[in-house]
Amino acid sequence: MSTLEIRDLHVSVETKEGPKPILRGVDLTIGSGEIHAIMGPNGSGKSTLAYSLAGHPKYQVTGGTVTFDGEDVLAMSVDERARAGLFLAMQYPVEVPGVSVSNFLRTAKTAIDGEAPALRTWVKDVKSAMADLRMDSEFAERSVNEGFSGGEKKRHEILQLELLKPKFAVLDETDSGLDVDALRIVSEGVNRAHQATGLGVLLITHYTRILRYIKPDHVHVFVDGRVAEEGGPELAERLENEGYDRFLTSSVSA
Ligand code: ADP
Ligand code: MG
Ligand code: MG
Repeated sequence: MSTLEIRDLHVSVETKEGPKPILRGVDLTIGSGEIHAIMGPNGSGKSTLAYSLAGHPKYQVTGGTVTFDGEDVLAMSVDERARAGLFLAMQYPVEVPGVSVSNFLRTAKTAIDGEAPALRTWVKDVKSAMADLRMDSEFAERSVNEGFSGGEKKRHEILQLELLKPKFAVLDETDSGLDVDALRIVSEGVNRAHQATGLGVLLITHYTRILRYIKPDHVHVFVDGRVAEEGGPELAERLENEGYDRFLTSSVSA
């Protein structure tokens, strides 16, 4: 059992006008084997949370702590976070020209496990994971993220998730830009990883539709850079019906 614990996290983003505070005291505890959804209006700081966990240099932690089984995540390099078992999709470079998907996956797997995977089983695992995600085998020879469509990027993300076998995954807007079929295939991949390895998931989303496929145990509503309300799956249903209006009434200025 592993635990990711976020305590009173404050984060500012680097802008031309100087640092701008975005996260204002985030508290969140996620156990492995649990699925948590973070939902919230646009601009509430959801992606900022994801980037902060990934160690993106533009996001400066100004207060609070993030620990993984008691270890200080904020003190870890991006690679150390991955080796500790955190999967943060956005920690990887956007495009890696000249590096094939297949080589990239094997290099990442080797870096995370500390040894190269046995070739025979690895090739079989990659093939089978790609088939599960309905990915053409030619995809393995393409350059990472070069000319990937939105759907291909998401599938590639879930392919990594299934092969690298992290303990925790932070998935930001995994549903964006996917048609219904792709959404179902990608969601099934997340569910498989959750069931097979007890993957803990922090699923960040604006819309409720992905929650029809990936069932969260806990739902957190994110407003103005912090968690404004928490509940079970019923909270997502309520948001589906009512939207975010009741959380925004006090901050409407125009
Ligand atoms: P969400 O993912 O919930 O839509 P974001 O974390 O993307 O929210 O953004 C939260 C706020 O931080 C927004 O007001 C956004 O404009 C601001 N912000 C985020 N990243 C940057 C950046 N790199 N430069 C300037 N402002 C940013
Ligand atoms: Mg479960
Ligand atoms: Mg976002």
